[in-house]
Amino acid sequence: MRVSLRGVTSGVGPSIRVPRHSSRSSRLSPPLNRNSSVTAIRPLRTLLGGLFGLGAGGDANMPDVPLKKTESEWKELLSSEEYYVLRQKGTERPGVGEYDSFYPTEGYFTCRACDNPLYSAESKFKSGCGWPAFDKCYKGGVITEVDSTMGMRRVEIMCGNCGGHLGHVFENEGFTPTMERHCVNSISVKYNAGEPPSGLEEAKAV
Ligand SMILES: [Zn+2]
Repeated sequence: MRVSLRGVTSGVGPSIRVPRHSSRSSRLSPPLNRNSSVTAIRPLRTLLGGLFGLGAGGDANMPDVPLKKTESEWKELLSSEEYYVLRQKGTERPGVGEYDSFYPTEGYFTCRACDNPLYSAESKFKSGCGWPAFDKCYKGGVITEVDSTMGMRRVEIMCGNCGGHLGHVFENEGFTPTMERHCVNSISVKYNAGEPPSGLEEAKAV
C-alpha cells in the first residue's frame, strides 16, 4: 500500500518548525496541547528516526547514563511537554519559559526528570536570548554531545544522570568570564530554594 509523504510526516509526532531561512516558516499542527509553550525544533536525526523507525523506544539518541528507564516509564513520569523536551530533544518557545526571567539570589536548579543538581542560582545570568542561561554547571551534573546534524556545530547538553535533554551550550560569546552560555529549556529544570547538596563544585561543561 502506498503511503503519501504528507501522511508519513504527520505521523512523526509533535509539531515541526521549519528551521530558519524563511519568515514564512510553516508549522504543522501539534497533537500536543494548544497552549503549550513547547515548540518543535527537533534535530534531523530524531525526525529521521521517527520516519524510518530507527531508535525504537528513543534510546538510540540517548547517552549511556547511570539512570536508565524505558520510554514508557518516562512517559508515565513526565508530562507530555516534559517528555517532548527531555526525552525527544524538543525546544520550548523563547521568552515564555517559567524560569526565563527568574533570577534567584540563592538556591539551585535540578533536572526536572531525576532531581540531579545541575546549576547554582549564581550561575544564571541575563543573556536576553529568551531561555534561561547559565555560565557554568555542577561538575559531572551535565554532559555534552556535539551535534552536527543541522549543518553547524552545536553542543548539546544533557543531564549527566538520566540523559535528559537540557538545551545547548554556546561558547566564546563574551557574556561572562567562563565564556559559556548554557541555553536551557525551563521545562527541563526545576528550581530548589535553599542550600544545594554539599560537595558540589562548579565548572565549565566544554
Ligand atoms: Zn536527569
